[in-house]
Amino acid sequence: MSAAARPVLAVASECAPLVKTGGLADVVGALPAALASRGWAIRTLLPGYRGVMKALKRPRVAAELPDLLGTPVRLLAATAGGMDLLILDAPALYDRDGSPYLDAQGNDWPDNDLRFAVLNLAAALIAADGIKGWRPEVVHLHDWQAGLTPLYMASAGAAQPCVMTIHNIAFHGLTGAERLKALGLPAEGFTLDGFEYYGHISALKAGLTGAQAITTVSPTYAQELATEDFGMGLDGVIRARAHDLTGILNGIDTDAWDPTRDPVIRRFSAPGGKAANKRALRAEFGLAPAEGPLCVVVSRLSDQKGLDLLLTALPALTERGGQLALLGSGDRRLENAWLNVAAANPGHVGVRIGYDEGLSHRMFAGADAVLVPSRFEPCGLTQMYGLRYGAVPVVARTGGLADTVIHANAAALAVGCATGITHRPNDPRALAQALSQLAALWSDRRAYRRMQRNAMKHPVGWEASAPRYAALYDRLARERMETR
Ligand code: ADP
Repeated sequence: MSAAARPVLAVASECAPLVKTGGLADVVGALPAALASRGWAIRTLLPGYRGVMKALKRPRVAAELPDLLGTPVRLLAATAGGMDLLILDAPALYDRDGSPYLDAQGNDWPDNDLRFAVLNLAAALIAADGIKGWRPEVVHLHDWQAGLTPLYMASAGAAQPCVMTIHNIAFHGLTGAERLKALGLPAEGFTLDGFEYYGHISALKAGLTGAQAITTVSPTYAQELATEDFGMGLDGVIRARAHDLTGILNGIDTDAWDPTRDPVIRRFSAPGGKAANKRALRAEFGLAPAEGPLCVVVSRLSDQKGLDLLLTALPALTERGGQLALLGSGDRRLENAWLNVAAANPGHVGVRIGYDEGLSHRMFAGADAVLVPSRFEPCGLTQMYGLRYGAVPVVARTGGLADTVIHANAAALAVGCATGITHRPNDPRALAQALSQLAALWSDRRAYRRMQRNAMKHPVGWEASAPRYAALYDRLARERMETR
């Protein structure tokens, strides 16, 4: 990080590799390195979850903070994975087993509103007072867990511009109106133009109405958000702020996901080098040798991901000799449904319930295709892992999936630029057709190899998107200087 780099405070509930439940963590973890060479130095404020506290090496006290909303806290500074971190140590809120959001039974922690309000209040105090001479020029908020920050900044007299990034508009961070006082929120902001949402407090809406700029994680999702079908009740707010919203496509970590250097696979630099990985993957999932393409799914099992649609469409693949290996966890009914499908298709469908980063690498390395049939997908990362590892993505044409995959229609095949297959979202018949098309393409091995080579060459890193974040920070900081 250069000495002249300008300071940004990022506020987030997840950050890979320290704590991750989904793509949000990957992005929060990737941006600091991506922006360091572009003049911006990001410090990331995270909750001191039990797992994070255990992983920190030599944390030091960064600043004394008062009790926040009645909770004793300490602000620690540490570095991890090349990142500059601020950790809010508040054992009463974060020192527990379970995920960042859920208890062991899969229910939301009952005090989630307070847990993230305290994080946001800490961010506001850092922005207002600085830490030992360090003060952010821009504050970057990620999803609803950071959404209350602009309100607390206003109360604390911090005037830096905020960027609010929507990673998934499905999660609003709602809590009851009776919590206004306990969360220290200004009653006058509890209006239609403020953070009120059908009688509730909405942390996401607070961020969307309070931030100077809004971004989301793909250009197509930015357009979709303004529609009733995708805006999840906030499309009106999005339309009102259309001029301040931009879609900036996520990248992936091309060092961690590099088939020529990945330590957990048999390395390869061309599609022909995948064969040993494919054999290993079949063995790992108990799959027999087969004529058709070997497909993988690596996903949260939730309604969003459309894997119930895949249950219906799957025969279009298996009847053509195709196979599926699925790794995922989440919704118990979906977990059971997929375990039943595996039991009914021994040797052709393999299912692993759980979360396993190493296995996911081996799956992309061995797969001929990756399936992502999401109903909506803000950006999606697994189709990009698929591209990089020569596993042709078969994806629903929505959000970032539509922005990253070049569909194998006749025109794309004629000029040889196809990288995958896209289909209409939320339609099992369209998904079945896409699987039939995959099987048909697979039977023309030369055409398929070409598609895999195209996929492996497709740029999936941060080269294109990091300068767009930097330009946004530049503009916001400049506008603030001009209005002072
Ligand atoms: P979302 O954030 O909606 O879950 P993304 O595709 O943006 O979807 O990001 C999901 C991330 O989590 C990817 O890095 C993916 O590989 C990873 N992931 C999801 N489920 C699993 C799993 N069961 N095991 C390993 N990695 C997983």
